[in-house]
Amino acid sequence: MSEYKGVMIYGEVVEGKLSSIATELLGCGRKMADDLGQELSAVLIGSGVSGLAQEAIAFGADKVYVVDDPLLKDYQTDSYISVMEKVVKQVMPQIVLTGQTTIGRDLAPRLAFRLGTAATMDCVALEIDPDSKRLLQIKPVYGGNAQAIFSYESDPQVATVRAKAMAPLEPDASRKGEVITIEAGVDPATIRTKVVEKVKEEVEGIRLEDAAVVVSGGRGMGGVEGFKQLEELAKVLKGAVGASRPACDAGWWPDTSQVGLTGKIVTPDFYVAVGISGSSQHMAGCSSAKTIVAINKDSEANIFREARYGIVGDWKKVLPAFIQKVKELVSE
Ligand SMILES: Cc1cc2nc3c(=O)[nH]c(=O)nc-3n(C[C@H](O)[C@H](O)[C@H](O)COP(=O)(O)OP(=O)(O)OC[C@H]3O[C@@H](n4cnc5c(N)ncnc54)[C@H](O)[C@@H]3O)c2cc1C
Repeated sequence: MSEYKGVMIYGEVVEGKLSSIATELLGCGRKMADDLGQELSAVLIGSGVSGLAQEAIAFGADKVYVVDDPLLKDYQTDSYISVMEKVVKQVMPQIVLTGQTTIGRDLAPRLAFRLGTAATMDCVALEIDPDSKRLLQIKPVYGGNAQAIFSYESDPQVATVRAKAMAPLEPDASRKGEVITIEAGVDPATIRTKVVEKVKEEVEGIRLEDAAVVVSGGRGMGGVEGFKQLEELAKVLKGAVGASRPACDAGWWPDTSQVGLTGKIVTPDFYVAVGISGSSQHMAGCSSAKTIVAINKDSEANIFREARYGIVGDWKKVLPAFIQKVKELVSE
């Protein structure tokens, strides 16, 4: 029998707070740990992160390994990878999860390499095989046109998980867990990079990922002018504006608002797709929306197969009437 036991998540800390992806990993990690009848642990790395351990427990962790050191103030590949390697070798979990974030994408494959195992990137679902008790890692392949299930024999099984693919548990402040402090033991001379400057992305209004309503425009908008109307609609609905890749590539809307396989994943209650054909790569970013409304002049467009409500027509005619009606309904 394998000596590796339990599920471990890397709890990314963003601006001194437990990130949303960390809480999502704790939610899915909890389920897998329960399926295996084993423990769920979280690793918190940084400077001044000890205070977040109880929060990780409230979100589902049984144990929290805290590595708190001024040297770890900023994410640096050299220091964080050596700390993760040390913690994983000490705890020996069967499964190690990180978010499919800039940090997780950097950390997971390097960690897997150092541990002589494999990593599956960008998983959208994870399950425990009821017979083998191995981790089944489900991820999009062929540009989002299919999903594949991966599993492998080596331990630990390392995977990165897409943001918003899993739901966090309701935090329970009365949950009890153990907090274990581990010395970083990092030699500053081994850190080959230094953070020179941090530039924060400016976001006006609601962040796309957090918006309950997303209004997106595609190539069919024909230019930046149409996006002004989308902005107006988003404002009335207290939402955010997204875009398809061609609209971003054309410079009609910022790249940071691209929805899809190579853009952001959004999970709003209401997604309005205007002048968007509904390619699988675009849908990979919005198919989890509760309700999709499409406005497209082509009745055969794929988006109408995905949408609950559809309006066939030119957005230049449809959108002003749509915005007017929404304004009336909102003010009632
Ligand atoms: C590896 C890879 C990754 C990709 N990642 C992404 C991604 O993350 N996000 C993404 O969006 N795409 C992505 N793509 C591109 C994707 O394949 C599609 O090309 C893209 O989604 C199409 O964008 P669109 O729907 O805006 O444009 P089109 O497919 O050109 O559709 C435009 C639509 O607008 C309609 N239309 C035109 N004029 C009007 C009008 N006046 N009124 C109403 N409707 C109108 C048309 O009928 C048409 O359906 C990726 C592709 C690859 C290969």
